[in-house]
Amino acid sequence: MLVTALTKLLNIRIPIIQGGMQWVGLPQLAAAVSNSGGLGILTALTQPDPNALRLAIRETRKLTPKPFGVNITLLPTINPPDYEGYARAALEEGVMIFETAGNNPAHLVKSFKDHGCIVIHKCTNIRHAKSAARLGVDVLSIDGFECAGHGGEEDIGGLVLLAKAAQELDIPYIASGGIATGRGLAAALALGAAGANIGTRFLCTVESPIHQSIKDKIVASKEQDTVHIFRTLRNTARVYRNTVSEQVIALESLPGGARFDELRDLVSGQRGRRVFETGDPDYGIWSAGVALGLINDCPTCEELLRRMEREAEEAIKGMAELVQG
Ligand code: NAD
Repeated sequence: MLVTALTKLLNIRIPIIQGGMQWVGLPQLAAAVSNSGGLGILTALTQPDPNALRLAIRETRKLTPKPFGVNITLLPTINPPDYEGYARAALEEGVMIFETAGNNPAHLVKSFKDHGCIVIHKCTNIRHAKSAARLGVDVLSIDGFECAGHGGEEDIGGLVLLAKAAQELDIPYIASGGIATGRGLAAALALGAAGANIGTRFLCTVESPIHQSIKDKIVASKEQDTVHIFRTLRNTARVYRNTVSEQVIALESLPGGARFDELRDLVSGQRGRRVFETGDPDYGIWSAGVALGLINDCPTCEELLRRMEREAEEAIKGMAELVQG
């Protein structure tokens, strides 16, 4: 068994968190991850309003007796969400674990800490990690260049970011971006992380609520199949390489770049949602990390987490054998 600061803090068996994923962090997936020994996370903004989040929390409780969390991501959006309303609904429903991500989470963190909750904050550099630590978050989720979605503008790989986290952070941190195997988890632990935040790998599980054709597409994909969009808008996001993301990049590459309103219809989350519903990988933008290249099957969450746990333990034992004399 892998016992870390994360497993102890969250009372989970395997140091793996299923990160917030727009349109994917629904009750069936969050509950499956929690039932399998990790920490499942519901994505607040996937729900149309705070009351719908309330119902999703109740549904998740029916599916698992284990702890699970709620993700609230603060990034530019087409329609400004009622962040406080989502937070209040989750608190009133008794959620005790939150994953925050994106821009300055101070007001949310204060409210969660005032309610005695555990807060995991995802950030993409050590400067932001230290600011979040000063706000009182419990765990930092350090998002390297490999990650899906919004990985910041600095493009530092997980290997360096995590080694730097080991040098500079005083509170537990977990590794995010590029982890889809037990070896990846073991590497994260070797870099001082207390566990891993995993997204893309969970997209391709039996319980993931997306169309089977997209799961098949993920299995067929390679580590080269993602691109960055929104670089020119300083809201860089790693997404699947398809006709829509190529079109966005072409528009951004024009002299003078593109304004967001010229990209809005192409990139809207509602359009991306249809990818997962219809199974057409070219319908819109969908987030994916370079861990795509490591995914060769579509297991249940239980099979995946058991396998990752076993592989990580074997890798760690193998490394221990390197030490002689
Ligand atoms: P949306 O339809 O509001 O926006 C689609 C994309 O355009 C998002 O990447 C968003 O950040 C970007 N965007 C919106 N307005 C922008 C602007 N004015 N300038 C630059 N970029 C802009 O997004 P959605 O699918 O409804 O999701 C809601 C929010 O939650 C988004 O910000 C999304 O990125 C975020 N989210 C991200 C993750 C993740 O990265 N893992 C998970 C959950 C939610």
